[in-house]
This record gives sequence, structure tokens and C-alpha cells, in this order.
Amino acid sequence: MESLPTLLLKPGEADRIVAGHPWVYHGSVLRLTHPAADGDLVQVKDHRQRLLGVGFYNSHSRINVRVLSPERIEVDQKFFEERIRAALTVRQKHLPGASSFRVVNAESDFLSGLIVDKYEDILVIQISALGMDRRKELIVAALKEIFSPRAMVERSEVASRKFEGLAPANGVLAGELSGPVTVVLNGLKFEADLITGHKTGLYLDQQANYRLVADLAKGGEVLDCFSFLGGFGLHAARSGAAHVHLLDQSAEAIGAAQRNAAVNGLEAKCSFEPANVFDWLKAQTATKAHEKLVPRWDLIVLDPPSFTRNRASVPDALRGYKEIHLRALKLLKPGGTLATFCCSHHVDAQLFQDTVLSAAFDARRLLRRVAIYSQAPDHPIVPMIPETEYLKGFAFEVIR
Ligand code: SAH
Repeated sequence: MESLPTLLLKPGEADRIVAGHPWVYHGSVLRLTHPAADGDLVQVKDHRQRLLGVGFYNSHSRINVRVLSPERIEVDQKFFEERIRAALTVRQKHLPGASSFRVVNAESDFLSGLIVDKYEDILVIQISALGMDRRKELIVAALKEIFSPRAMVERSEVASRKFEGLAPANGVLAGELSGPVTVVLNGLKFEADLITGHKTGLYLDQQANYRLVADLAKGGEVLDCFSFLGGFGLHAARSGAAHVHLLDQSAEAIGAAQRNAAVNGLEAKCSFEPANVFDWLKAQTATKAHEKLVPRWDLIVLDPPSFTRNRASVPDALRGYKEIHLRALKLLKPGGTLATFCCSHHVDAQLFQDTVLSAAFDARRLLRRVAIYSQAPDHPIVPMIPETEYLKGFAFEVIR
């Protein structure tokens, strides 16, 4: 273990690592005392040679080391089994009863570069860092030992892999899988395509919010914008909404949402429309001179994709967020509720709320905030690692 290559940090660069952030940026590195190959385990020390931790090295990435542990450890199958079991314990505590959830959420679970999602008896893994990629066999063996899954699928198609010198990779790693899988969230069935669907198949990060938002739907006319497979809409329909209209620009997603409604016996309460939400809201809010808009919705859900992947595109993203909020607010009845989400890490809760308020000003609506939402507890937030927090949401009631 003493023979691990050592990477020394520049003075002043150690605190973030000591505090628990796992990324050592290229710019923080003083030097390597012995050559290390990309993907190798190295020990990280401060400029006074005090040990800060061990992690995977990659000279090609801006993140030179992804720290795994503050102490010297052996990275073998047992290491992965222990880390994954620890992560599983967190889920069992905070999402009791769930059969589908994120088992490992990378930095949140001190396994930078690895995501593992459990969809009933199938596991989907996503690897975004070289050190993890090199140890895929150990990870797969550890997962088999813990879960004995029916099948294991890899969905490593994330853009960030190229910064690590990795090509996209996907396919069935173990067992057999063909066609969609039925996933149960909060007792509702969803058909998910784990091989080609969004993310690793479903938006598990909204699992808790589906229930919370559905509680606001009773007896009302509900509009689910950016519905995908119907997560919010179908939960609202089950919770006693009078009617739910689901919108998504993907005809495929709308088709699946419709099948999901049927499987759950909710079809009679739901209508489905493939549409671009921007265009649809614009058409619904268009009025002729001297014509007054009659609001007809009791609950509108806005859960768009991230409009921004980097800081530079934030202003454009905010214009997009403002536009859909302005139009949605015009379509809500007085007393109605807007449940709105933002999954961009670069737009924080304050900036997101400011954008909603700016839309409310233009729509001449006064809002009461009745709920604050976050990502589900299987996507744990470690505040010392700001990158682990990305999903935020609010429910606002229209006072007038
Ligand atoms: N609410 C969903 C997740 C939404 S993800 C859930 O809980 O599962 C974003 C969805 O928005 C995707 O299904 C995508 O097809 C859709 N989408 C993206 N841009 C759109 C647009 N301009 N109009 C309508 N749908 C859009």
C-alpha cells in the first residue's frame, strides 16, 4: 500500500478534500512523486506530505483524482460490496417500501463516477469515470452478490465520458432483457424502456414529489406539462383529480403514458396530447383584442428538462423558464396551484424562485408558496459537495 504513487497538492488546496469533496482538480496538483497510469489508485497528500486520501487518477480529465476514501484502502470486490450496502441502507431508511430506486448516486455515495439504479429486479449502471470503468467487473460482481438481479444493463452514454477519455458504452451485461419493464412507483405501474429510455429509464428523482404534488390535485382540472411517461399526471389522477391532461413533445412518451394510464385503470380520467409545451401554452394564452382569457386549470405541473448544461447558457434558460411560468400562471384559476421544477444545477432555488416571481409580476398574479420540493432521498444531497444538489421545486397558490 505504501507503494501507491503519491500526488502532492499545492499549498491551500487541501481543505476542500479534507472537508469531504472528492474532486482534485488539475490546477490544484503540485506534482506526482512517481509516475501513475490513468485509472490507477493514487494517494493524495498535502504539500507537507500529510495523507488526505486515496482515489483514482486520470491525467486526461480536468478532475485529476476522484477521492474514494480519506484512509488507505484496498479497492477490491469487498470494497464495492461495502460501499453499495452502505448506500442501500440509506435508501431503506429514507425510502422504505420502494422497490425501484437509485442505489448508488456517485458523489452522494462516495463512489464518484458510478450510478446504479434498481428497477424492480433489474439493475442499470452508468459509469462516467475511467477509474470506475476499469473496475466494471468488480462492480458487476459486487452487485450480483448483493442483489442477484434478473438482468444488469449498462447505460454509459453520458457526454462527460469523453472528458475521461471514454467512449459511450451500453448493453446487457448480465442476464437477459428485451422489451419494456414494468416498474412500480408508489404503487402505480410504469412501463420503462431501460435500454433506450431517458436517463436510465425513468425519473426516479421525482418519486417522492409525485405523491406530494398529487395531494394538491383533489377534485381539480390538472395539466401535466412535460409529462414523459405520466409520473405526475397519473399520480394526480389516482389522488382524485377530476381530469388530467398530459403534454409531451415526444409522441413515444405520450403513447407510453397512455398505456400506463390504462394499466392503472386511470384512462377514463386522462387525456393525452403530443405537443411542444411552449407552443401549446402560447396558443392557449393567445387572446384577440377585447377578449378576456378564462383560466380553467386548478393545478399545473411544469417539469421541463434542464434548459442549461453550463453556466454560459443560464440567461437563455431563464428566459425559457420565465415564458412557461408566465403563460401557466395566466391559465390558473384563482386559488389554483402551480407545481414547478427545475433540474439544472446551474440555476439555484433562489434564482429559480426569482424567475417565477418575475413571471408572476408580468401576469399580475400574487402567489402564496405552499411547498418546497427537492430530489428524492435516493439522490442524497451532501452540501459539502454542491454538485450533488440539482433538483428543486415549489408549489405556489394563486392568491389573486
Ligand atoms: N415529468 C417527467 C419528466 C420530464 S423530463 C417525469 O416525472 O417523469 C422532460 C420531458 O420533456 C421529456 O419527456 C421530453 O420529451 C419533454 N420535452 C422536452 N422539451 C419539450 C417541449 N418543448 N415541449 C414538450 N415536451 C418537451
